[in-house]
Amino acid sequence: EFIVLLPELGRSSDAAKVAGKMLEALKLPFPFEGRELYVTASVGVAIYPHDGGDAETLAKNADAAMYRAKEQGRDNYQLYTAAMNASAVERLALESALRKAVAGRHFEVHFQPQLDFRADRVYGVEALVRWRHPERGLLAPSEFIGVAEVTGLIVPLGLWVLEAACAQVKEWQGQGQPELKVGVNLSARQLQAADVVEQVQRVLRDTGLAPQFLDLEITESSAMQNPEATIATLRELKALGVSISIDDFGIGYSSLNYLKRLPVDTLKIDQTFVRDVTTDADDAAIATAIIALAHTLKLTVVAEGVESREQLAFLASRGCQRMQGHLFSGPLPAEACEAFLARQRQADRPTGRSETIPGD
Ligand code: C2E
Ligand code: MG
Ligand code: MG
Repeated sequence: EFIVLLPELGRSSDAAKVAGKMLEALKLPFPFEGRELYVTASVGVAIYPHDGGDAETLAKNADAAMYRAKEQGRDNYQLYTAAMNASAVERLALESALRKAVAGRHFEVHFQPQLDFRADRVYGVEALVRWRHPERGLLAPSEFIGVAEVTGLIVPLGLWVLEAACAQVKEWQGQGQPELKVGVNLSARQLQAADVVEQVQRVLRDTGLAPQFLDLEITESSAMQNPEATIATLRELKALGVSISIDDFGIGYSSLNYLKRLPVDTLKIDQTFVRDVTTDADDAAIATAIIALAHTLKLTVVAEGVESREQLAFLASRGCQRMQGHLFSGPLPAEACEAFLARQRQADRPTGRSETIPGD
């Protein structure tokens, strides 16, 4: 790393010109021991007095701008903006708050019912984590899962979710729903952890949940990070008796070749295809193809994000029986989900059947 000082700067826009010239100059090859080496640079620019009144602040802000240049794919320059520091500071604050939250278990698991349309019943629930943030209230995973992944905090967090979800569903099984399944999302980091199989086995033993009622959801991209190792791990998990779903299917790297070899049971059609399935011919074709692919490979198929009766009708007509989405219910806190399940059991009796499935 180098600091370049431009003490004689006429106008502040000249700093950008100099940065551009430096990048150009570095593009030329460097002759080295009979070979030619190429380097690029990422440059961050901070200007006195606007971006800092002392050397330390200027260097810190130039550094933030340089990181931004690296994020933008390197080989470019970025001028410092206050927002850069704000976002870096925010990320750090989020990380330390998340660390405390994981230690203190300030999370909740919500459950989204999954319906088997033909049998007209709830066959399972998907566990979806929420963070009970002291100031900001209940936070959705999109606000923190990314940071949890990068920092590795997803490993203890995910394990906690697994335990909480299995224990809860075991309890519901005892309340008249003996076959209820639970889907738990497993991140790439968890899947790659050396002890993932032992941990799943331990949780099943501790909670008393029979393995055939646990479904682990992994995404295509996490499976593809290290396909050979993933295949081996999934085989071991399946040997425990649990089932495996590919989540968000269709938006990652779907190597059909690996799909054939991955020991999975279910494809979950990503909600981006379901959203416009009744209005967009391409999405309709993709959803139809995924359903057909699943059937050919003898896999179960679940549609995510079903919000309307029209979507339900389309998917059902193509042979997709299992669905989850706001049409039936969003993710619910445990007590509300318990009430939903109870109502559903009630509705199973021929008299009150239509009350929980608006699409029926
Ligand atoms: P996902 O596993 O694909 O979960 C489905 C997401 O779609 C959930 O968002 C759910 O609330 C939302 N959803 C369900 N039905 C509908 C619908 O009809 N319309 C729309 N627009 N959305 C619907 P959520 O709860 O915000 O979770 C987002 C993602 O965060 C999950 O996507 C999953 O990838 C991740 N996630 C959640 N909990 C965990 C966890 O415990 N561990 C890990 N590793 N990831 C998790
Ligand atoms: Mg999922
Ligand atoms: Mg999904």
